[in-house]
Amino acid sequence: MVKKVDLENEYFDEAVGDFLDCKKACALTGAGISVESGIPDFRSPGGLWSIFDPQEYATIQAFINTLEKAWKLYREVAKTIEPAEPNAAHTGLAKLEEKGLLKGVITQNIDNLHQKGGSKNVIEVHGDHQHLHCLKCSFIRDINESDVTSEDIPKCENCDYPLKPNVVLFGEPIKYVSEIEELINGCDCLLIVGTSAQVYPVAGFPAIVKQNNGYIFEFNLEKTVLTSGMQFGFFPTESITDYFFSGKASSTVGSFAKKSIEEMK
Ligand code: NAD
Repeated sequence: MVKKVDLENEYFDEAVGDFLDCKKACALTGAGISVESGIPDFRSPGGLWSIFDPQEYATIQAFINTLEKAWKLYREVAKTIEPAEPNAAHTGLAKLEEKGLLKGVITQNIDNLHQKGGSKNVIEVHGDHQHLHCLKCSFIRDINESDVTSEDIPKCENCDYPLKPNVVLFGEPIKYVSEIEELINGCDCLLIVGTSAQVYPVAGFPAIVKQNNGYIFEFNLEKTVLTSGMQFGFFPTESITDYFFSGKASSTVGSFAKKSIEEMK
């Protein structure tokens, strides 16, 4: 049974108690954690996916075939990411890590806000927006202002091949697989913040933690398949969430982190 937590009800204290009993808690975050920092998620109405069809702009094949489109999307995203600052959800997770209550964060985001908020062990499974990468010779460098403002596509300094933003596009494998395995292995509580859990393989991590009898805490504006279950053809899957914190991440995660730190022994 999913326990729906609000900051006033008895499940809040119960969730904090269960969290504090855990030995290896980790977090998994998605675009929703950064919405209150001014970076819209892509999937919600009006989000970038309603303007830029991901099949047309955000696949590795699109990058190879129509570089201009992939770079157009990247430059659009960069405009919102660069001025953004972490919110209370990012800093809350960082404080939990500092107190030894969280072992690390797996993020699908490319915005660097966990690091800006003070988190140390951050695994960026979809890469980052601060580097450019050459698919041909593996050269990598920091982005600079003209990469974002210019209309030209920057070229590799070694081999002259067009550079690619160091973000994982649809059709590319995720990064840091062994680091993820190390963090997820033995994880007994996963705090899942602001992800619709629709992009695999990351969307499969909660089920691994659950199979190992770990707790699943979900923080989101609305229930996802993790909390509501889903229909796979004829086969319904069950909810795997133990505690669902409904509301904006800055408030739910911020309050949860504060209370956990107050209650720790
Ligand atoms: P997503 O699939 O992670 O969905 C966003 C989720 O966040 C939704 O479930 C939504 O209900 C929830 N949400 C929205 N605002 C919230 C809030 N204030 N508090 C709590 N929950 C909230 O994200 P997507 O937009 O479909 O993006 C797909 C992929 O694109 C991501 O996995 C990521 O790699 C990339 N992306 C990154 C960023 C970033 O770096 N900040 C932003 C957008 C997209």
